[in-house]
Order: sequence, then structure tokens, then C-alpha cells
Amino acid sequence: MGSMKVREILRMADENRFAVAAIDVFDYQSAAWVVEAAEREKMPVLLMFYPDMSHFIPFTTMAAVATDLAKRASVPVGVHLDHGKAYEVAVGGIAAGFPSVMYDGSAKPYEENLAVTAAVAKCAHVLGVDVEAELGTVGQGSRKEDFCNAELYTRPEQAKDFAEKTGVDALAVAIGNSHGHYVCEPHLDIKRLDEINRTISTPLVLHGGSGIPAEQMIESVKYGINKVNIGTEFFEQCKKSVAAHMGRDGFVLDHYKEAGEEVIDFVRGRIARINPGHFSL
Ligand SMILES: [Zn+2]
Repeated sequence: MGSMKVREILRMADENRFAVAAIDVFDYQSAAWVVEAAEREKMPVLLMFYPDMSHFIPFTTMAAVATDLAKRASVPVGVHLDHGKAYEVAVGGIAAGFPSVMYDGSAKPYEENLAVTAAVAKCAHVLGVDVEAELGTVGQGSRKEDFCNAELYTRPEQAKDFAEKTGVDALAVAIGNSHGHYVCEPHLDIKRLDEINRTISTPLVLHGGSGIPAEQMIESVKYGINKVNIGTEFFEQCKKSVAAHMGRDGFVLDHYKEAGEEVIDFVRGRIARINPGHFSL
């Protein structure tokens, strides 16, 4: 198994009615913990990288580390560049070695999002790279108006036009989800999700997976979500676990190992949560 195309992992998820956990990792250690969690759960997983974090670790280094970990894994592991907000970032990710990239033009007018997404997909597909795009706007959980305003949600008829014209391999939808912590409990628009899922065959992605109640998460997977992005909660767990174990005497790598066990348990819990049918490799 090991390294697998994101598109193929999403197809596996679709056929077996689960969602793959896509975790934003930021260095070798965090990526290795996520792979270890997936191996213990006997589930596929995706390692993602935020372009903004290239201040800490260059694209080429992270792509090389993640793809090497993927190759050596005993479960399917995909590697993906999250949220490329410009053509240059997404295509730059391809050049740096990411086998899957997101172009996020959701903040732009529809026609512009469509045109740039299509251009990224055209380039990516020549090189055998997968592309995720976003339609509707997934905002910030700190702003209620971002996730409670249905005007910003993905429209099924527009999703059809978008999927046909861009040929993307995955589509992130806005259905009441948002990034970061939610100021109040989100209520996912499952009816809308079901409608989008019936309208297009493109695998659907739920961004803002941190803080969505478990029962809503399970419903979203039942009605078409095949990839759940988790960033905020993972970062916080890493910080908490590392802080708890680093203060003691001893060798630094032993402390990482102890902290890692807590992080691995956290990721295993998230993987299990979005696998309501209890699929196992
Ligand atoms: Zn996102």
C-alpha cells in the first residue's frame, strides 16, 4: 500500500461510505504521528500542508518528507497541499512535489474562481496531479455570519456547472461549516449536501472539521462527504501534548515519543468518528 493518489483514496472512501481524515501537518514529527495513527486504525489518511507554513518549512522539504512517509506506510497515505489561494501557490505546490493540490478561489467572483480553477486543473492533470477546489465560501468559525449565512453556501446547480467545466477531483463545499473554533454550535445543511451529492459525482470535502459535533459529522459522511479536514484541533493537541512532556528530565526524542502517543490517540479518535460504517483495510 503506502503512497496512493488522493483521487484513488477518495474513490475508496466513496465506494465504502467513509470519509478520509485529512490532517494539516507541519513537520516530520506531526506527519509521522498521523501516519502511525492511520496504521493502528488500519485506515487510509491524507497528510496536508498549509502554504502559510512555508515560512517554517519549505514546500519542497515538506512534500519530500510527506511523500517519503507515505511510501513507507502500511496503509494508503495521500499527500496534499491545502488552500492554495493563488494560481502561483497551487502550481508552485505541484512544482515542489505535491501530488495533490487545492486551489481555493472561493473568495473570488464565481467566473474568476471557475477560470483559475480550470487553469490549475489543466496544468495539474497533464502532470498527473489531483486538484481540489472550493465553491461557496467556508469562512471563519469565529464569525457567526460566516457559517450561519446560507447566501455563502454552495449552490447545487452551480456545483454542477463548476464540476463539469473544471474537471476537479474533489470539491470543498460550504454547508454551514467554518475554519477554526466555532463561536456557537454549527448546524450543517445536510439537505443541501445531499442535493449537491446527487447532482455531481465529484467527491465532496468538509473543511473546518474541528468542533463539528460527532452526530453531524456522521450525517455529513452518510450524505456524501468523503474527506474531512482537521487543522485547529490537531495543532492544539500537538501543542498540549508536547508541552506536557517536554518539561521533564530526559532525552528529547523520548519526550517526543510520549507526546506522540497522546497525539496518535487523538487522531485515531477522529479517524474512527468519520467512519460510521466501520470500514477497515
Ligand atoms: Zn480549509
